[in-house]
Amino acid sequence: MRFVSRLTLLVPLICLLTTISTAQLNPGPTKSQAAAPSNKVVVIKAGTLIDGRSDAPRSNQVIVIRGNRIESVGDAASTKIPSDAEVIDLSRATVLPGLIDTHTHIFLQGEEPAEGGYDVNILKHPLAYRAARAAVAARRALEQGFTTIRDVETEGAGYGDVGIKRAIDEGHIPGPRMFVSTLAISTTGGYPLEGYAPELTLPKGVQIVDGPVEARKAAREQMDHGADWIKVYMTHRSWIGKNGELVSQPTLTLEELKAIVDETHGWGRKVACHAYGGVGLHRSLDGGCDSIEHGLDLDDAAIQQMVKQGTWLVPTLSPYYYAWGPENTPQGRRDRKRVEVHGPSFQKALKAGVKIAFGTDMGGIPWTEPMAQEFRREVELGMTPMQAIQSATTHAAELLDMVGQIGVVAPGAYADIVALNGDPLRDLGAMQGIAFVMKDGKVFKNEVRR
Ligand SMILES: [Zn+2]
Repeated sequence: MRFVSRLTLLVPLICLLTTISTAQLNPGPTKSQAAAPSNKVVVIKAGTLIDGRSDAPRSNQVIVIRGNRIESVGDAASTKIPSDAEVIDLSRATVLPGLIDTHTHIFLQGEEPAEGGYDVNILKHPLAYRAARAAVAARRALEQGFTTIRDVETEGAGYGDVGIKRAIDEGHIPGPRMFVSTLAISTTGGYPLEGYAPELTLPKGVQIVDGPVEARKAAREQMDHGADWIKVYMTHRSWIGKNGELVSQPTLTLEELKAIVDETHGWGRKVACHAYGGVGLHRSLDGGCDSIEHGLDLDDAAIQQMVKQGTWLVPTLSPYYYAWGPENTPQGRRDRKRVEVHGPSFQKALKAGVKIAFGTDMGGIPWTEPMAQEFRREVELGMTPMQAIQSATTHAAELLDMVGQIGVVAPGAYADIVALNGDPLRDLGAMQGIAFVMKDGKVFKNEVRR
């Protein structure tokens, strides 16, 4: 009797489990914030609208929002404002789609080498302490207008990003939509902690794999536990070579990477590959990485292959200007060399038509610093201000397979909308002054001058 009743219970349970795993196959934000208004109508009067997609701004626009979605966008003169609408007057501001940062680390805090650097995070900080600071970092992103981030690994904090994402999605804490990549993957000798007595077994800032079987298994485990993206370190140490060139140590073999890419693509997800240059960069491209992170030293063959394969470049220009070693030390020379080669690589990629998405590497940079500094770097190296804005809106949305959903102010998109005083097309510094943030139809802050 007991056996029979257990069997009858099992059938619905199995159905339920199948439903859950199907839902998990759709990566990215799982659901809108619990407290989001269901059918409330909000109207934004936009003095200037940069919609994230069009090449030119439009003036005097009216954005009608129902619940957490944009219903319509039109000229103020011809748009009828629904009588039950709450009106937000941004008629003296520039309105943009919520910004997207495709390379962050909320579990890093720009650790000072003098204060123990990277290693103290793993050796001394309790996970709850790191999670608390990660929650603050997520809030920092949102208040600067970044309504979506792709967070590319937790640096020894396990699956903490999955937890922070859930707390945001359920409305417990403020933060952006998150695409998370959990532990990341590298090889033995390919990631810190390093430099300790060999007798000690110490944790690593990533999941270490050796061989295609372990590589595939790591990708499976990470996606099983909630990774939307898989992050792979395809290069590790870098130094100045015999001929004064930047050299980067390759990590995974082509076979190891192919196992990860094959598995990840099978789940309908994508692979982000940290690669500076040389052998590791070429393995990244031959192995089918979807995005190259940093890409400091792109040779012509790599650029051609990226264009051909549609591989994204997330250049993260800003962090390489921070915390250089002393001038005449190997580390100091290496740090200066990185910046020296990064600029021309970016310029060649831009000219050749490589797809470029905005990424700051915040966390590598302290979260107290402005995220918008990356826009300035992009423009210094040849992007127009509009191209720079689009790298953090419509192009970043394309990288995340969210075209039409985020990174655009248009009917059908999520109501992720920001605004600032000033004209960012004339003075890109204005991007540091995001004064209005709406995410998922909810106003998070409104400090716009009337
Ligand atoms: Zn990074």
